[in-house]
Amino acid sequence: MMKINEFDKIIVANWKLNGSLEFIASYFEILNSFKFNSSVCGIICPPSVYLQSCFNNMESLFLGAQDCSNHDIGSYTGEVSASMIKESNCQFCIIGHSERRQKFNETNFDIKLKSETLINQGVTPIICVGETIAEKNNRSTKDFLSKQINESLPNEYVSNSFIIAYEPIWAIGSGMTPTLDEINIIHSFIKNEINVNECKVIYGGSVKFSNAKEIMNIVDVDGVLVGGASLDPQEFAKILKS
Ligand code: PEP
Repeated sequence: MMKINEFDKIIVANWKLNGSLEFIASYFEILNSFKFNSSVCGIICPPSVYLQSCFNNMESLFLGAQDCSNHDIGSYTGEVSASMIKESNCQFCIIGHSERRQKFNETNFDIKLKSETLINQGVTPIICVGETIAEKNNRSTKDFLSKQINESLPNEYVSNSFIIAYEPIWAIGSGMTPTLDEINIIHSFIKNEINVNECKVIYGGSVKFSNAKEIMNIVDVDGVLVGGASLDPQEFAKILKS
């Protein structure tokens, strides 16, 4: 398992359903020309068929998958298991992204099983949580997150066995973000909900170079998860350096 406590910041690129072999070659040609601080853990999460190609092209960053099966083996057409992800050189795997929860009907219980199978394989799950705009407007964000966290986490865990990505759904791809105060309040709330001394909580939702530094300067923000802006290697390199 990766010793994530040794890093100051964790910065994740979620490519979603984007990329091609040509894209990967030119992306890493640009990214590899930058030198990054070793206290930053940069993670690239491409579609799973491109994990190997990214691994072959990347120099200083780590690799993550975007999802995994909650089954280890068997008749589950189209699925990719945690051990296959491990064998593809991934140290990390995003699970419970709101797009998977909403468009593929994944439940908190599915996420819990996925987190357990990943941890068993020595892959660190990046567990996404976040409220909709309706919950925000109802002022029920904390209740919603508390339920989502308690139901999505593995049954047993120790410090730093997973990363939480707080991604308000209304902030993803919208150009809108919570205020810095709001992010601070929710991150410390999440850390209090989790029964360990140390848990990394990263923020996701419309992070770009122009706001990454001020967000990462918040005390309880341990990094960022970047969607759209991570597809531009210059922009992502600037975020890694900010
Ligand atoms: C995401 O989808 O996880 C995300 C953070 O996207 P964006 O950065 O584009 O808002």
